[in-house]
Amino acid sequence: MTRLAGWGGVPAVDARERVGESLAEVCRPASLTRGLGRSYGDASLPPHAGAIVASTRLGDRVLAFDRAAGVLRAEAGFRLSQLEELTRPAGWVSPVVPGTRHVTLGGMVASDIHGKNHHVAGCFGAHVRGLRLQVADGRELETGPDREPELFAATLGGMGLTGHILEVEVALLAIARPWLVIEVEPAPDLAALVARLRAASRAWPYTVAWADALSRGARLGRGIVIKGRWAEPGEAPATSPIHSRVDSRLAVPFNLPSWVLAPASVRIFDELFYRAHCWSAGRRVVHPDRFFHALDSIRDWNRLYGARGFVQHQSVLPVEAGDAHIVRYFETITRHAGASFLTVVKDCGAEGRGLLSFPRPGVSVALDLPMRGAATQALVDALNRHVIETGGRIYLAKDALTRREDFVAMEPRLAAFDAVRRAWDPERRLRSALSVRLLGDPG
Ligand SMILES: Cc1cc2nc3c(=O)[nH]c(=O)nc-3n(C[C@H](O)[C@H](O)[C@H](O)COP(=O)(O)OP(=O)(O)OC[C@H]3O[C@@H](n4cnc5c(N)ncnc54)[C@H](O)[C@@H]3O)c2cc1C
Repeated sequence: MTRLAGWGGVPAVDARERVGESLAEVCRPASLTRGLGRSYGDASLPPHAGAIVASTRLGDRVLAFDRAAGVLRAEAGFRLSQLEELTRPAGWVSPVVPGTRHVTLGGMVASDIHGKNHHVAGCFGAHVRGLRLQVADGRELETGPDREPELFAATLGGMGLTGHILEVEVALLAIARPWLVIEVEPAPDLAALVARLRAASRAWPYTVAWADALSRGARLGRGIVIKGRWAEPGEAPATSPIHSRVDSRLAVPFNLPSWVLAPASVRIFDELFYRAHCWSAGRRVVHPDRFFHALDSIRDWNRLYGARGFVQHQSVLPVEAGDAHIVRYFETITRHAGASFLTVVKDCGAEGRGLLSFPRPGVSVALDLPMRGAATQALVDALNRHVIETGGRIYLAKDALTRREDFVAMEPRLAAFDAVRRAWDPERRLRSALSVRLLGDPG
């Protein structure tokens, strides 16, 4: 048995983990497949203790890389870090990347990840040309936008519940220079933050904001907007930057004590973070990892949250709901003293093809919450009430505490997802701790 958990450390389950080079063989008896466990909550955990989970760790071969067309096909366990090392020097990058490079292609598809360029590029699934899938009865088949399209759409963002992804084919993005031009702009309050983020999205392919979710009154939601684009010839060297310069030199050696996370400490952190970025406002050229995967420079940073772990809550509040809701959402966070080091705000673009994918037009707010039992549950419940009221939704790859009735209330697409699962897996062989909690699957 192996004790498995997501990135937040809670919950944890004892599972029988199967690891091997032949993914088809490893996956066949498993109720779920898992990549590097970088989803936060229970999405990559088995439905019950003792269940079999397939790990794709050793299934990471490149099957084809067309350097002229920028199309890559690889096994599902191929990691984004490996992809960047292989394709960046050749002038190609992943069209969509998350905040860490320690994820697999399979995990990126199953979460249908979004990046700082969602408003121009959509989710990762929009760039997937084909998937080799092992469905619940053991059959292997090729799916894509034109082959078994319903199954394909349900697999994008389907959290591993429609089949084991064995191979992924993706169209990459061409870049002129492997460096990023970024611009940093402070915003004194929430209204300015949201307005500047939206304005930035019209001119820049990559945008993101960090907000101080503990300041109250006039300073509520003050923060930093960060914009980016790939450098043009003349702005940066043609040679590829070296990864190891920004990778994991620093590490958090053990779980930190709980006083580190007290609201007072987080308030000091937020103040220093805000001031540091005010001083460094302006435009400059940076290593792409500093912009895309800044957190990877501190190895095991999840230990900052101590032995009790943490959860992340990420939701998108629709544009139609109006900006007043965003203010009320932040007031709920400050009222519950939901001390979060980093509250990340993003402007999402159009909804994609994935049946259960997270993004839709609106403002996404993601916050890390130290696990404090009933108090954390109460905060998540309160945030979810806003989400339901505004017609928004939560990101399954981050969730651990949403209640089933709340999920059903916020997710009108569930019936369509359920119909695909009924057609391909009537006995619900494929299940996870998340699907037991949120979809009512047998435990
Ligand atoms: C620091 C950090 C920053 C992040 N930033 C972002 C971000 O900006 N945008 C974003 O969208 N996400 C973000 N994430 C979430 C992360 O990108 C996704 O959860 C990603 O899917 C994790 O990949 P993984 O390989 O570790 O998958 P896991 O966490 O192991 O699994 C995630 C899901 O995919 C399923 N799965 C994995 N492999 C397969 C397979 N081969 N076949 C079928 N199902 C499979 C699992 O069952 C599970 O449901 C972030 C996570 C961290 C830790």
